[in-house]
Amino acid sequence: MQGANSYNPPMALPPEVCIRGAGIVGRALALLLARERVRVALVAPTAEAGREDVRAYALNTASRTLLESLRAWPDAAHATAVREMQVHGDEGGEVQFDAQRQQADALAWIVDVPALERQLADAVRFQPLIEVRDAPVPAALTVVCEGKASLTRETLGVRYEVTRYPQHAIAARLEAELPHGGIARQWFNARGEILALLPMGGVDGRALALVWSVDQLRAPDLLKQDATEFTAALRDASHDTLGTLTLTSERAAWPLQRAMADRWTGRMPDGRAWALAGDAAHTVHPLAGQGLNLGLADAAALAGVLKDRDYWRSVGDARLLRRYERARRAEVLSMSLATDGLQQLFAHDADPLPALRNWGMRGFNHTHILKNWIARQAMGLR
Ligand SMILES: Cc1cc2nc3c(=O)[nH]c(=O)nc-3n(C[C@H](O)[C@H](O)[C@H](O)COP(=O)(O)OP(=O)(O)OC[C@H]3O[C@@H](n4cnc5c(N)ncnc54)[C@H](O)[C@@H]3O)c2cc1C
Repeated sequence: MQGANSYNPPMALPPEVCIRGAGIVGRALALLLARERVRVALVAPTAEAGREDVRAYALNTASRTLLESLRAWPDAAHATAVREMQVHGDEGGEVQFDAQRQQADALAWIVDVPALERQLADAVRFQPLIEVRDAPVPAALTVVCEGKASLTRETLGVRYEVTRYPQHAIAARLEAELPHGGIARQWFNARGEILALLPMGGVDGRALALVWSVDQLRAPDLLKQDATEFTAALRDASHDTLGTLTLTSERAAWPLQRAMADRWTGRMPDGRAWALAGDAAHTVHPLAGQGLNLGLADAAALAGVLKDRDYWRSVGDARLLRRYERARRAEVLSMSLATDGLQQLFAHDADPLPALRNWGMRGFNHTHILKNWIARQAMGLR
């Protein structure tokens, strides 16, 4: 049966790849494969009218290039360039990154999530080699892009090793009294909480995307607070840098975790191949804004190995899929360890840790080679 949310007519030949999950990673992968003339079934449960995602993602240069090539990059009103990034410690430590030093237009772009999802949905709709379904179909390769709570991954017997952070991330949209100047700002406090105010609405704008990783016990109170109380707490946590803050959206919260699947590829009981991509394969703490960047890089790597295959190899060829897994696992692991290390650095408050970490930040801010290397990794430039 074809999905109720599908506009694409059924294909004459059966699909070669079935993608389960039509999030950003699943849709991007479907478009990448269809561009290489691979027939794709994209499994999207019948659309439910849900609330709009209040998040905005920091996407790097590699993700932008990929999405632009798929004609799925949102317009300038929904993707704001980050010219500078300021990271503040709890005792005066500070690290700054700036795009000019990297000889780049931007360190990242802050992208409105609903706008990006709409762009991808439109691109899928106009791709005749993608058929949207509401149930899985047999195919030589099934790619599981169902996100961190994937049920298919569970039925495949994959172990997804989860480390939970005792934190929830609160996201919302804000309007500041003062212009943000294209600067992404982040504050770490002594309780390990991390506040990020990300610039939106153009470089001269005053709109902000909030990501506030707070103690899980404190999150419910912050969600319930009235808007004035909530924004006063934010103003305090951001040291009044942008003046009065006004809440312009609902607040939503996500529990935070780090996770990695023990196997990324394998065979189903009927012998057909499967692979994992995106959050179904890994999740990282959002403090470095890298989860989706990693997922899109998975999609690009998988589409790349399938595109470069010998003409006689099937899309479910085990050697190809192992190549994909090897290529991605190492990068994901190093990003996961780096973000976890940063989170841990601020998660403890016993002396002399606060002084040491702030001293470390100040020192790091002056190590140009290491700083440039890290900035380029985060930008997806290798
Ligand atoms: C607060 C917060 C802020 C973040 N900020 C950033 C950021 O700035 N930059 C960044 O790069 N990343 C960020 N991330 C990470 C980012 O949200 C994820 O990495 C990204 O959404 C993963 O995309 P995905 O397509 O793999 O999974 P998902 O977005 O979870 O999509 C999975 C899709 O599969 C569907 N699905 C589930 N089960 C089934 C099934 N059985 N059958 C069919 N479909 C199914 C779901 O409905 C959904 O549509 C952030 C995360 C959080 C929590």
